Amino acid sequence: MADEIITTNNLEESALPLTEGCRLPVRMRNLDETLLAEILSIKETIGGDTVYYVHYIDFNKRLDEWVGKDRLDLTKVQQPKKEVKTPLKEIKNGSRPSSPEREMPAKEEPIQILQNGNAPPKKSTAGRKRKFPGPADEITASDSKDAAPSPRTTGSLVAHHDDLVTRMKNIEMIELGGHMIRPWYFSPYPQELVSLPCIYLCEFCLKYMKSRVCLKRHMAKCNLRHPPGNEIYRKNSISFFEIDGRKNKVYAQNLCLLAKCFLDHKTLYYDTDPFLFYVMTELDNSGFHIVGYFSKEKESTEDYNVACILTLPPYQRKGYGKMLIEFSYELSKFEGKTGSPEKPLSDLGLLSYRSYWSETILEILINVKPTEAGERPQITIQEISEQTSIKKEDVISTLQYLNLIHYYKGQYIITLTKDVLEAYERAVAKRTARIDSQALHWTPKDWSKRGKW
Ligand SMILES: [Zn+2]
Repeated sequence: MADEIITTNNLEESALPLTEGCRLPVRMRNLDETLLAEILSIKETIGGDTVYYVHYIDFNKRLDEWVGKDRLDLTKVQQPKKEVKTPLKEIKNGSRPSSPEREMPAKEEPIQILQNGNAPPKKSTAGRKRKFPGPADEITASDSKDAAPSPRTTGSLVAHHDDLVTRMKNIEMIELGGHMIRPWYFSPYPQELVSLPCIYLCEFCLKYMKSRVCLKRHMAKCNLRHPPGNEIYRKNSISFFEIDGRKNKVYAQNLCLLAKCFLDHKTLYYDTDPFLFYVMTELDNSGFHIVGYFSKEKESTEDYNVACILTLPPYQRKGYGKMLIEFSYELSKFEGKTGSPEKPLSDLGLLSYRSYWSETILEILINVKPTEAGERPQITIQEISEQTSIKKEDVISTLQYLNLIHYYKGQYIITLTKDVLEAYERAVAKRTARIDSQALHWTPKDWSKRGKW
């Protein structure tokens, strides 16, 4: 975007009024320094002050916020030039992204694994050093963008297409099971609730209320102490409940409203009928508390095993995200299929998946036994995919991401260097909670055989 800008330097106040589209340095919440931001909206408060909704350039939208004038650096305002038509993105000459297929072995081709080896001379991946995604990266918030072939907008609520409205956070705070959670993104809760300082949710049925008094009254008569649907997994304090979006429509819609607060691109589906929701909970003596969830199409023509996936913020960075992902692949194993999350993944979602894929694939590679003839252990992409239920494309992209696979003297070799093995050991040591397939009591349904969901 090459918008022409006019910079007004060394002025106490910009000569031009601050308008939407202006860029200027803004002091971010809880931060001492200022960052370049764009004004997306301006409003007057009841007290007569002007406040500005700003987006920090090159930062995720979840950091967008309302700020007062005291946080703006008015000496460096960049005015937007009006009506600059952005030309279509040029295709940079000759820098076509390389297709993984062309550079990779055939799915059935056995690949030798070199344990504890030094990487052989690189052919095409020169200079690409990738860090092993660590547990610190682990959070889950993945969502499917509005890329559905036919948007499902039937139902009582209509998807918002008003970009300006949906681009701005509209909810101050959510109280859920004793957690005060500040939303990251827009969510279409009813208009009369979004103007309040806080929305109160029943942590079990996810019904939303306007005050703590209403919540108290509700809790006295709400009988739920766990999500609706069937508990299909329990190990220690962790359970999973399977919820049919058709049978428990109100719960599913309330879950989508809550999830939208933390998922940027999630298309607002109010027709929850085609989806199953897998809610992960943690049990204590007051009930089964929601930790996160993922949704999954009852029938996916493209082998998607996850539509949206989210760990609620109070539970992030504790390994729950990886358990959600692991559980989604466990279901695929039970179905005898390979699967992949819907694309595009969010920034945080991709980190979690990269980390899960890396650990899972390395676990397989490390345990491949040498052949009987005493030759190097061998495995195919197809075999890795079958053993993990991770789709072949994701196996290949992970091997490339970790820079493990090389073409050397006419064949492909996976080299497990000391660095990679050590990073793997560290990651595994930190991953204490795992899904135990023995604790899953579930029979997959063949939804295609049913005339109707
Ligand atoms: Zn309730």
